[in-house]
Amino acid sequence: MTPTAVPTDVRTLANHIGGTWTPSTTTQTLEDRDPATGDLLALVPLSTSADVDAAVTAARAAATEWRRVSPIVRARAVARLRDILDEHRDEIAELVTRDMGKTLPDATAEVARGIESCEAAVAMPHLLKGENLEGVATGLDVEMVRQPVGVVAAITPFNFPAMIPLWFMPWALAAGNAFILKPSEQDPLPGERIVELAISTGAFPEGLINLVHGAHDVVNGLLEHPGVDAISFVGSAKTARYVSTRAAEHGKRVQALGGAKNSMVVMPDADPDLMTGGVMGSSFGAAGQRCLAGSIAVLVGTQAEQDRSRELIVQAASKLKTGAGIDPQTDVCPVVSPAQRERLVRDIDQAEADGAQVVLDGRGDAGPGGCTLGPTILDGVAEDHKVAVDELFGPVLTFVRAADLDEAIAKVNSSRYGNASVIFTESGGAARAYRYGVEAGMVGVNVGVAAPIAWFPFSGWKDSIDGDLHANGNDAVEFYTRKKVVTSRWAA
Ligand code: NAD
Repeated sequence: MTPTAVPTDVRTLANHIGGTWTPSTTTQTLEDRDPATGDLLALVPLSTSADVDAAVTAARAAATEWRRVSPIVRARAVARLRDILDEHRDEIAELVTRDMGKTLPDATAEVARGIESCEAAVAMPHLLKGENLEGVATGLDVEMVRQPVGVVAAITPFNFPAMIPLWFMPWALAAGNAFILKPSEQDPLPGERIVELAISTGAFPEGLINLVHGAHDVVNGLLEHPGVDAISFVGSAKTARYVSTRAAEHGKRVQALGGAKNSMVVMPDADPDLMTGGVMGSSFGAAGQRCLAGSIAVLVGTQAEQDRSRELIVQAASKLKTGAGIDPQTDVCPVVSPAQRERLVRDIDQAEADGAQVVLDGRGDAGPGGCTLGPTILDGVAEDHKVAVDELFGPVLTFVRAADLDEAIAKVNSSRYGNASVIFTESGGAARAYRYGVEAGMVGVNVGVAAPIAWFPFSGWKDSIDGDLHANGNDAVEFYTRKKVVTSRWAA
């Protein structure tokens, strides 16, 4: 943290409040660095409760105006947001790569997913339609209408700095709400650019879209502010539990999507190419920093069958190239920060000290930014060991073994998490038994990263979510609207 000294050649980010880019009232900043090079990209203000209050005040005023705008006009505004993001998709993707570290193709796919969220939200006039029942008693009609919640705040994580703000912004706005974004302090630049582009469309009234940079104090300010009606959160399980509890204490509706420990079940009949391709993308894509990343491979079958699957995976992983996300040859990008790398190395060291075999060792050169960690595979890990049960959020894969599918499902379901789970098999029967029995919100069959498209709800079960409603799809309509039931009788 740099308390007061702000280098003149590096920009200190401003908040966007009430239609204006406004410097924070704080003098405290955090450094935002490129994980591949270590270059200082920006200083992130640790905004204050006064900044939060100003954003909420602006949002409340705009919400009153915006809810009166026709849903069709609001949907057109979101369509304009979609178009401007589409025009700038390459630029936003490059910003994601620079700020978060992931490879350019991965960043491009992230931006495409965010744009898709806008496309799904454009259907809002259709989705907002209510229900009615005529003549429930003599002359008595009942009608349910949906109205916006009011002011929505989104608190987002570092690993999808463009897509996750867009899981929330288009839906909240199309449903008639005002919006405040608190992006991750680790990589806030894509979120800032998205807000800037949204404002530049001229399609949204001043004060409707606000951005407040910062960390815990801003989150607490939003959770406690009486002017915030709903909180959409994505982050680690610990923070999700904290946010949901604190938001509920302050009478807000909350959806808090948390962490994960995703298993991939490898059946003996799995297609070798589909399986290895799926496992590589899932475990090592984005350096394992996805909530859908597979960090456990459950090898199923006889000892010989398990060993054959293990060999295929290790061989494929040993060919992956680790490097900067901007390099087109790179498969495994750096992790987000030197602190994250150090934590991961400590976890691998600990597993090794506790008897695990490091089958593939990525602990080598940390690279110019201090964030590089190669694909790492552990075997012979006790199934209750930290690396086998906790989310590590890095390119670290652990093997677990099971004699048959029932044992594999039982092992997968023993996790406190239930975000995603994947099976690789050529058997329809095994796939069906798996999708039926596995306790996870998102399931892949021969698909390593089973990310639902934006027309479906996105989230997990168990400790991977606090709250009931997922992101995107019809759940977004439920979350961003309140239902009102009108019972009417008119004189004949
Ligand atoms: P994080 O929990 O550290 O931070 C998320 C947000 O919460 C940030 O904006 C941060 O400023 C804020 N925050 C963090 N600690 C806080 C505290 N103590 N008090 C108040 N605010 C706090 O998460 P992260 O490291 O940025 O993101 C990675 C995590 O997000 C992983 O656990 C990953 O699985 C999870 N994730 C989940 C999903 C999902 O769909 N379930 C999607 C993406 C990421």
